Amino acid sequence: MSEPGIRFLADDHLKRLARWLRSAGFDTYWRLDIENRELYRISWVEKRTILTLDRKLWAPRLLRLSSHDVKVQFREVMEAFSLDPFEHAFTRCVVCNVLLEATEKETVADRLPERVRERCEHFRRCPSCGRIFWRGTHTERTLRFFEEALGLGKPGARPGPGEDAVR
Ligand SMILES: [Zn+2]
Repeated sequence: MSEPGIRFLADDHLKRLARWLRSAGFDTYWRLDIENRELYRISWVEKRTILTLDRKLWAPRLLRLSSHDVKVQFREVMEAFSLDPFEHAFTRCVVCNVLLEATEKETVADRLPERVRERCEHFRRCPSCGRIFWRGTHTERTLRFFEEALGLGKPGARPGPGEDAVR
């Protein structure tokens, strides 16, 4: 499976969007209190598309979002670049923005909750923070978010960007 080619830089008001984009596997830089000059520099050097609500920002690679609703923002990003959030979902750490690595169950078993140890066979580990991820309730929440953001599912409860992980 190849990585998606596009890379993003979410401005500091878009933390939630950044996490959802990472959930969908997209390389998304985000950090608090980033200055505009730094935003422009990183966008230029790392060829990242700036995502922002700020009407005063301008850069060669920039997508201006129209809504404070994170689902609308997510849909705008997917539509603007014809992206599929399901294709690379769950390949990236939502906290560190690095690609997860497959890991053997035996090597992580002692760090897992009992019910997960019994139920799950496949695990991924973040090489940066050490969190271990598995298919759990967060998976359903995330897929539901994608569906609702894209208008595929029926509107319902607002899911939060959680993950099932231990570190
Ligand atoms: Zn991590």
